Amino acid sequence: ERARHAITSSSHAFDGLMGGAGMRTGRVTEICGPPGMGKTQFGMQFCVNVQIPSAAGGVDGEAVFIDTEGSFIVDRVVEIASATREELHSHQIQEVPTIETMLSRIHFFRVHSHVEQVALINQLDEFLASHPKIKLIVIDSIAFHFRQKFADMGQRTRLLNGMAQRLRALAENRDVAVVMTNQMTTRIRRVGAGLGDGDSATLVPALGDSWGHACTNRVILSWQDDARQASLVKSPNLPEATVLYAITADGVRD
Ligand code: ATP
Ligand code: MG
Repeated sequence: ERARHAITSSSHAFDGLMGGAGMRTGRVTEICGPPGMGKTQFGMQFCVNVQIPSAAGGVDGEAVFIDTEGSFIVDRVVEIASATREELHSHQIQEVPTIETMLSRIHFFRVHSHVEQVALINQLDEFLASHPKIKLIVIDSIAFHFRQKFADMGQRTRLLNGMAQRLRALAENRDVAVVMTNQMTTRIRRVGAGLGDGDSATLVPALGDSWGHACTNRVILSWQDDARQASLVKSPNLPEATVLYAITADGVRD
């Protein structure tokens, strides 16, 4: 395997969960969790952190952000970017990009349907070829346009599998980190016929089991009392573990 780069999350604990340095290029990671856990915050944080100059151990790169839900908030990115810039300045790092430059290095796409989403992902390889500084692709969320009933559920599975394959190929061939978010859905295990005693409901990542097999690394965010926790539940090379993280005014932190 050739040398990969890593993009910090700004949480040492979370970076540790992902193998030490954060999100590795060449890998696809799915971040799942219920509303408000911070999935979009992670996405915006990575878009800022991928731009950290190499003098500070960063990748000095650019990002693609694919917004399927309309939850990318520029003011929040500015807040996160400002905090990151201050930190870099306090470490005497030279050539810290301006906020304006940072925003221009986030290539933003809004997709309004699963058709737009699939079409965009199909075009990404070409886009990356003409933008070699891109080291990160965020898709927030992968599931939104695929959650409603499809007339042909087989077609839905084929589209999802095709997307997963393309994203894996992009990660490996273009040496980018792919980070996608996913919602949680309730799975009811029925005991006997109909709803009743003994039935149990659990929260599981949306899009079903075949999607679960398609992704490489999977992280699930959840509450542990008043603390936010991230659990690595699936990885080909890292141990399963759980760490705590925080969301502050400055972004993702320990
Ligand atoms: P959804 O499934 O609805 O998309 P999500 O997992 O993407 O949810 P986010 O929108 O990333 O959730 O995170 C929202 C959380 O981030 C909230 O708990 C909110 O309090 C916290 N948050 C957002 N901005 C700030 C801020 N400026 N200061 C502190 N916390 C913040
Ligand atoms: Mg969100």
